[in-house]
Amino acid sequence: MLLAHPRTGALFDSPVPPGAGWPGDPATPDTVAALDAAQVCALAAAVTSVDELDALVSVCRACPRLVAWREEVAVVKRKSFADQPYWGRPVTGWGAKEPRLMIVGLAPAAHGGNRTGRVFTGDRSGDFLFAALHRAGLANQPECVDAADGLVLKHTRVAAAVRCAPPGNAPTPAERVTCAPWLDAEWRLVGPHVKVIVALGAFAWRAALHMVGDHPKPAPKFGHAATAELPSGRHLIGCFHPSQQNTFTGKLTPAMLDEIFAHAKDLMS
Ligand code: SF4
Repeated sequence: MLLAHPRTGALFDSPVPPGAGWPGDPATPDTVAALDAAQVCALAAAVTSVDELDALVSVCRACPRLVAWREEVAVVKRKSFADQPYWGRPVTGWGAKEPRLMIVGLAPAAHGGNRTGRVFTGDRSGDFLFAALHRAGLANQPECVDAADGLVLKHTRVAAAVRCAPPGNAPTPAERVTCAPWLDAEWRLVGPHVKVIVALGAFAWRAALHMVGDHPKPAPKFGHAATAELPSGRHLIGCFHPSQQNTFTGKLTPAMLDEIFAHAKDLMS
């Protein structure tokens, strides 16, 4: 059933077919879909631009369990979003193409990024994160609602280590390994500009260390505000994930997030 995008009013199926006109959709109907881990490796290794990478990521079908889950969620929906189309596809990295700050998260939320098609967009974690980026002068507005809301990041890119919404927010070890080449390719393309990485949670911390490759041995341990200087001169900062579990309990407060981004800005300059 076709439903109207909540901002543009254009009609879409759920999941959204590639190239159907969804705001920010990087793919076309002809974009090649990776169907297994080997194809992810081969396609990711060959990409030469962020636009090309985003298109390939956005149609990937390499993890059968995650493809089934993201598409089922897109059809069943949550009651409060029942009148909206759901993206239901992998969620690409998003933001500046030559970022000085890269923020790495775990995976899209079933009714957040998996609904809106943009990372950390449309859920409370994203509200918390982008409001902090706006306070830090790294986003043009605090509101983050959908992929056509006018939000623009400054010097900042946000990417998830796993690009599809997983059941229970828990990708399997095999799914993490299968998806890693997409993040590695993103790092190859944008990493030369990056001065600081902020990892949201312990899993993102490990993914970021794997992504950069040149970390100290033994690997530095995750902690909130933990800062590791990498051999390349870049810095990796740990931050509690802005999940509702952390923000509702006060484990992560707006002031704590502000301190993280203030520190990141100091190291970026
Ligand atoms: S999790 Fe990553 S590798 Fe697996 S289907 Fe999604 S985009 Fe592809």
